[in-house]
Amino acid sequence: MTALLGLSMLISPAHVAAQAQKPVVVGVSWSNFQEERWKTDEAAIKAQLAKMGAKYISADAQSSNEKQLSDIESLVTRGATVLIVLAQDTEAVLPAISKAKADGIPVVSYDRLIEDPSAFYLSFDNKEVGRLQARMILAAKPKGNYAFIKGSPSDPNAALLYAGQLEVLNAAIKSGAIKNVGNQFTEGWKPEAAQTNMEQILTANQNKVDAVVASNDGTAGGAVAALASVGLAGKVPISGQDADKAALNRIAKGLQTGTVWKDSRTLGTEAAKIAVQLASGAKLSAVAGSGTFNGGPKKVTVNSILLKPVVITKANLGVLITAKWATKAEICNGVT
Ligand code: BGC
Repeated sequence: MTALLGLSMLISPAHVAAQAQKPVVVGVSWSNFQEERWKTDEAAIKAQLAKMGAKYISADAQSSNEKQLSDIESLVTRGATVLIVLAQDTEAVLPAISKAKADGIPVVSYDRLIEDPSAFYLSFDNKEVGRLQARMILAAKPKGNYAFIKGSPSDPNAALLYAGQLEVLNAAIKSGAIKNVGNQFTEGWKPEAAQTNMEQILTANQNKVDAVVASNDGTAGGAVAALASVGLAGKVPISGQDADKAALNRIAKGLQTGTVWKDSRTLGTEAAKIAVQLASGAKLSAVAGSGTFNGGPKKVTVNSILLKPVVITKANLGVLITAKWATKAEICNGVT
């Protein structure tokens, strides 16, 4: 009886618990780490993992689909027991997600949707970000020629943002008050690509552009450079996203209308918590506060948490100082 009990203990709850106590190693695959915002996300992920006694390892795909696939493989070889993936290309990354599933390694699709039900989707409400961007520009310029500087074509967020923007502007576009005079994707979200796109839209319209809906602060920076070269910077309302320091400074200087703040410290913290839960065997549907999302191009239903974005304009820049997101000196640098 004693022996039997001993044997059963080897394979029952005590054993499972011992398994669960294996150290959690979180492998984070970044797509384009050189961009300002991801450094904030990383700091939050690392801090939360340290609190929970889990290990952080990472790799940066440097905007390459192929590198991201090999990065994910090497994170697993280096001992990752769970993955957080910021997808460079939502389609190209799919084989790595299937492989992780086959290896029993849970995946959090971080910030950008991966349409595989085996990955948990954690982001902000990106369609709402698009609505907020359009509303701030519509309030500043209810009529005229609108240019749209969209995000990367391989990032589903770009399409979600544009859908949100059009939802707000469609009535005015239909009535003729607003004319969509150019809408371009920005390869890899690169500011220099956004600058070229903006230059082309300006040329095609003899510089008659009254408002720009830019999908993030990086692309807004590129577009503002193009506007500046024809003397329109500060005269044409332009949106953004991320509350990058450079953008906050442009807002203070009147060169950018506003941005949409997504507190990536919260996103990073949540991702770390979810990753540890999943590594410890929690089911995707059991993640506290989760719902489902099926708004991607293929309408795949995934378990998800979407956080709420906040509009920032010159009127409420102080919110970011209070939240310790940026200092007054950083925001007001060079403002006279
Ligand atoms: C993110 C944005 C970011 C952009 C470029 C998007 O997927 O949601 O916050 O600015 O990628 O990295």
